[in-house]
Amino acid sequence: MKFLYRKQCGRCERKSPVKTLVGNSVLELVVGDITNEETDAIVNAANSQLAGGGGVDGAIHRAAGPSVMEQTSQKYPEGCPTGEAVITDAGQLKAKYIIHTVGPIWRGGREGEEDYLRAAYRNSLQLAVEYGCKSVSFPAISTGVYGYPLDLASEVALSEIRQFLLGLNDAMLVRCVLFNEGTWGAYCRVLEQWRCDETNA
Ligand code: ADP
Repeated sequence: MKFLYRKQCGRCERKSPVKTLVGNSVLELVVGDITNEETDAIVNAANSQLAGGGGVDGAIHRAAGPSVMEQTSQKYPEGCPTGEAVITDAGQLKAKYIIHTVGPIWRGGREGEEDYLRAAYRNSLQLAVEYGCKSVSFPAISTGVYGYPLDLASEVALSEIRQFLLGLNDAMLVRCVLFNEGTWGAYCRVLEQWRCDETNA
């Protein structure tokens, strides 16, 4: 794992993007609103009915417009099971696709939550590759209303993304778009820990 840069700006240090090379690909951590992303795909933290809702799901549907909900209703009337992912176009957004995945509701950690969260990231990335996407943005799936502890979710998210990217031949950009600095900081701590582990190995 090679860090490309970590910008240390005195005024806005906490908002600086972090870029890391993983295999042939780039993993980036930014603070932002995922609806503004111009990556080929953005990932939505949906619910299993694909019914829309609050949080990032609501924001994505509001910004994309009603055609996206029409597509999910028509193409996936049964919804999407936890850990799986489905795809639509992105309506009025700049991205080409929205990948709707369903993270687990946190129930204490003994009900397979980690496996489901890993599957949500893996299946989203797999779908992105199948649709020819070279860049994908993720929110911090399950860390809002679904209550997955942020320190655990960030480790799961980044390790699953890393494992996937290491298995890819082609280069991809994966951008984690974190809605606030606290979430961004938790993700950064995971990368810093990895770097320490590598240095000490
Ligand atoms: P879940 O039900 O999977 O927990 P939420 O939407 O409640 O989904 O929260 C998931 C994460 O998305 C949280 O970290 C929340 O702060 C973040 N979030 C909310 N709105 C946005 C947005 N517009 N862009 C990026 N992340 C967002």
